[in-house]
Amino acid sequence: MMVLVVNAGSSSLKYQLFDIERECVVAKGICERIGMDESCIKHKMPGRDDYNATVPMKDHTDAVRVLISTLTSPDVGCITDMSEIEAVGHRVVHGGSYFSESVFVTNEVLEKLELCRDLAPLHTGAHLMGIHGCIAAMPGVPQVLVFDTAFHQTMPDYAWMYPIPYELYEKYSIRRYGAHGTSHRFVAGEMCKILGKTEGTKIITCHLGNGSSISAVKDGKVIDTSMGFTPLDGLEMGTRCGSIDPAIVTFIMEHEGYTPSEMSDFMNKECGLLGVSGLSSDCRDLGEAILAGHKRAKLAEDILTYQIKKYIGSYAAAMGGLDAVVFTAGIGENRDEIRAAACEGLEFLGIKIDPVVNEQTHQQSNNVRISTDDSKIPVYVIPTNEEYVIANDTDRIVHSMKK
Ligand code: ADP
Repeated sequence: MMVLVVNAGSSSLKYQLFDIERECVVAKGICERIGMDESCIKHKMPGRDDYNATVPMKDHTDAVRVLISTLTSPDVGCITDMSEIEAVGHRVVHGGSYFSESVFVTNEVLEKLELCRDLAPLHTGAHLMGIHGCIAAMPGVPQVLVFDTAFHQTMPDYAWMYPIPYELYEKYSIRRYGAHGTSHRFVAGEMCKILGKTEGTKIITCHLGNGSSISAVKDGKVIDTSMGFTPLDGLEMGTRCGSIDPAIVTFIMEHEGYTPSEMSDFMNKECGLLGVSGLSSDCRDLGEAILAGHKRAKLAEDILTYQIKKYIGSYAAAMGGLDAVVFTAGIGENRDEIRAAACEGLEFLGIKIDPVVNEQTHQQSNNVRISTDDSKIPVYVIPTNEEYVIANDTDRIVHSMKK
């Protein structure tokens, strides 16, 4: 069975074609500049030359048509007919409180997704265009939605409720939703396999990329997570400030004369590692600058590693213990200095990093234990694979519908 995984943005559509039986990606790529001049497709297949073409795509339906004709092209494609694609799995950023697991697309599901628009307007609008585009270009092919927020829906109310008047939560659905749920779910699942059980496990998963979040996963279920009402909450990120004193927001607005949307742009695009270092949002640049003695690059990274350490400590307290820590995503998988600094001083919790293994662990495709053999708590680097989860959920749901 082939499953097409789609991640639709407002003017782009990323895709991966999965062969479920062989557990591999057959092709992947992106349609860009949808609805603009010079829209194009960039298509990659393992072992073959990349294929790039400028093709008119006035909307997402056109983009899906171009994608299908590329996948079925005798020259650059990998399937003979569209009928080989048995289902489509869509990545959806926000499912509000409506979706606690992946779902088969029905009219009722699409109506509920419409209600999530307010919570993530740009993303939800784009996802809906992608879903409608697939329905129009691939009639009769089952569609499944996989939500970034779903895995976090198991949080208890005292973890997801903010200390604001309850009426405002009811009126605007203001609460903690979390993000990167598909990634946290994947790496927590892998960690449970390594531990040999799910029930009785207490795992902290650190997804550290351009956007970063940390989750406390007890018995395979999230009990707390660092991202909140929006993906601006929690850790310092590439360009996002993460949690700051809320009074800073009104202070800066007053003193810099920012409107609400300017302030939102500022907190999302000008803060974090970029804002503190004044240099870059990318950890690779900061790493080089630190070696050259750049003080603010060092400060930017120190803030991040200190925050990671604090989350590990607080989530261990929240779960009443700890069985494993997992690092994943761009920084988590590749920046040994950040992993080492975040775990430094956590020996009292039973965490001891092996400096040699840790330093050698980057760009791996397999899971690596970076803690010492005598570390009470195992610490792992587990490469995340959100598309794999989306493809598998889609396959599982479509098969269960057929039964
Ligand atoms: P996104 O949140 O956009 O998916 P990623 O998970 O790709 O982001 O993470 C991007 C971050 O990971 C950047 O700060 C980048 O410097 C870092 N990163 C990615 N690959 C590497 C690498 N090979 N070595 C060091 N850092 C890396």
